[in-house]
Amino acid sequence: MKFRTILLFGAPGSGKGTQGKILGTIPGFYHLACGDLFRNLRIDSPLGRVFIDYSSKGQLVPDEPTIELWQQHINAQTQLGRFHPDRDTLVLDGIPRNAPQAHILRDTLDVRALFSLTCADVNKLTERLQRRALRDNRLDDANIEVIRQRLQTYELETRPVLDFYGPEIVHAIDSTKDPLRVLTDILNIIVQRL
Ligand code: ADP
Repeated sequence: MKFRTILLFGAPGSGKGTQGKILGTIPGFYHLACGDLFRNLRIDSPLGRVFIDYSSKGQLVPDEPTIELWQQHINAQTQLGRFHPDRDTLVLDGIPRNAPQAHILRDTLDVRALFSLTCADVNKLTERLQRRALRDNRLDDANIEVIRQRLQTYELETRPVLDFYGPEIVHAIDSTKDPLRVLTDILNIIVQRL
């Protein structure tokens, strides 16, 4: 059985985490941000160290441990009765994050819609990230060089995933609007797709 899924895409700072959290509060929706899974690891665990190593350079963690961590988390949440694959809709943020991950998850996810949060203004993205760095104590948000590298990683590795799913599934959402309007745009499409 595949998981009924909605994907949130967007460059760092585009606001996908904000939208994901809101969507996750709707009954029957289960929000999962891959970056949170990594940040919840102990930093002295083997994978925790790998995460720090890559994320501090603005790079993606290798696919195999990433998918394994994700799968383990989903299995655990299912066992604990927090995620119900038969009736819940998964809201994924940050995974799949490159074409190989999309291929690996092809038989696991039934992707109903992908929202690509767009913001052409790099300065606005950078500003949002630097504000978040202070608020959430995120090292990868603080350094301008790391931010540049993450934006580049997004363009080179993550954007091609939009082609993998194709125009039937992909919806561009203007994320320069305020959160309420971004949410409204997303919900208007979700109600048609589920
Ligand atoms: P962002 O706001 O940059 O999108 P995330 O919290 O989604 O931040 O991710 C933070 C970091 O965690 C990424 O820069 C990357 O190193 C790692 N990461 C998160 N998800 C994945 C993934 N699916 N594959 C590989 N690395 C990931």
